[in-house]
Amino acid sequence: MKALEVKNLKVIFPIEGGIVRAVEGIDIEIEQGQCAAIVGESGCGKSVTSLAVMKLLSTPPAIMRVDKLELGGVDIKELSDKQMQKVRGKDVSMVFQDALTALNPVMTVGKQIDEIFLAHGNLNFETAGEEGEKKRFNRKKEAKRRTIEALKLVGISDAEMRYKAYPHQLSGGMRQRVLIAMAFACNPNLIIADEPTTALDVTIQAQVLDILKDLQKKQNTSLMLITHDLSIVMNMADEIYVMYSGKIVERAKTRDLFVRPLHPYTMGLLGAIARLDDERGRFVQIPSSLPCPFRKPTGCYFHPRCQYATDKCRQEMPVLEQPEGGRYVRCWRYKEIEYAKK
Ligand code: SF4
Repeated sequence: MKALEVKNLKVIFPIEGGIVRAVEGIDIEIEQGQCAAIVGESGCGKSVTSLAVMKLLSTPPAIMRVDKLELGGVDIKELSDKQMQKVRGKDVSMVFQDALTALNPVMTVGKQIDEIFLAHGNLNFETAGEEGEKKRFNRKKEAKRRTIEALKLVGISDAEMRYKAYPHQLSGGMRQRVLIAMAFACNPNLIIADEPTTALDVTIQAQVLDILKDLQKKQNTSLMLITHDLSIVMNMADEIYVMYSGKIVERAKTRDLFVRPLHPYTMGLLGAIARLDDERGRFVQIPSSLPCPFRKPTGCYFHPRCQYATDKCRQEMPVLEQPEGGRYVRCWRYKEIEYAKK
């Protein structure tokens, strides 16, 4: 079963004097229990994609079109905001980049996780009168018990004590663990983690990623990991989507992509990873930066930065080809480039 299926997703932002085409017709499929990473530079449209999947984009200003949007085989394309509130947290949840802004600063972290269990945790139902009071009390007690369990599960020591802490009283790594505990609280089918470790230092980053991976495997949850950093997906993702200026330019199983990248942009991203086994330890930078989103170049969007660009590249947008099962690439010259590298 597919945890997520997206077909032909487009998101545009009309602005004064033009249109920003943030996402230009992308497809995503994630099998249950698998991790797919969406990788690309800041501004390539990956975070807009994740918000679109969660139906969290404000419309207007955003205009979203999609042919198919299914979570665990259930069509959520036409669901209203109110209906989506029942889906978020229960069937799909999100780990945001900045825990400090994602968490409510005036509520203890324990109470914030309790709320998820109370809303979606299948606790006892309300009843009227004295009996109802008792049940409400029991629901709250049960929510607290599950919250403390969830905090322990993400490696927070003294969970009973941390339950009463406010977000500012916790370290950055601990706050991120709280977000992970919230995301996994009701065992959703799919978790979307948008740059979950960007704000953390390298050692804490590794710990947080380990927790995410461990919980994903244990709970057989599917994960959509959004990141600009290919090195962090190497040990986490089953499949990688490389995104450039609103389009998928390459899609492949993780090993295939690392061993034999086909698109020049992917090659550039891989070149930018410092390799411990490379004695020279050199970074290779991709020249220049992403094109301006409301003045994209003609033809292949990557052509101004591509050393292999030809006139055809400058004039015609390449189609997304499928050179072999499970592999996709959007480049007119990938065969020649691969041949030349042999
Ligand atoms: Fe480079 Fe041309 Fe391929 Fe675009 S289509 S990535 S410009 S070779």
